[in-house]
Amino acid sequence: MNLTKEQILEFFQKTHALLEGHFLLTSGRHSNQYFQCAKVLQHPEYAEKICAELSLYFSEDKIDKVIAPAMGGIIVGWEVARLMKKQFIFAEREKERFEVRRGFEIIPGERYLVCEDVVTTGGSVQEVIDLVRANGAEVAGAAFLVDRSNGKVDFGVKQKAAMTLEVISYLPDECPLCKKNIPIVKPGSRKIF
Ligand code: ZN
Repeated sequence: MNLTKEQILEFFQKTHALLEGHFLLTSGRHSNQYFQCAKVLQHPEYAEKICAELSLYFSEDKIDKVIAPAMGGIIVGWEVARLMKKQFIFAEREKERFEVRRGFEIIPGERYLVCEDVVTTGGSVQEVIDLVRANGAEVAGAAFLVDRSNGKVDFGVKQKAAMTLEVISYLPDECPLCKKNIPIVKPGSRKIF
């Protein structure tokens, strides 16, 4: 298969997963770009094509199951598992920490591929890696659709991002878009501030 970065970017833009403008991020910072992974993953044909990049990357590795943190990682994990013809389970945050529920099991000695949609700090993926190991199983790798860590995230296992998107954000006082009086939008709402 092998998609180019330009092709993946085209899928993001076509599905409005990647928006250009002036956005208020949840952190309070401003950005000229907003990325909502669910917008591209709602289209099975694009989910399949992008996840094929991830499954291909790990095709030579011994993997018993695919696991993902809920909710973000579920679609990517499922699609990668489907393409690799492996079982898929997900972990959910129960109070402070991730657990597997619903009768899912992490089997000691098995090898798990951890999947996620977007990695920024890598917190959820690291927690699932720790959960797999705490159950006596092994981590075969980490696969995610988008790396937004500006190349900083390193899980110490074989890892693959289908796409890297650099995050550029500004403190409100220093925002060049504010200086140009471009109306700011809070993603997910129709309100303009
Ligand atoms: Zn601004």
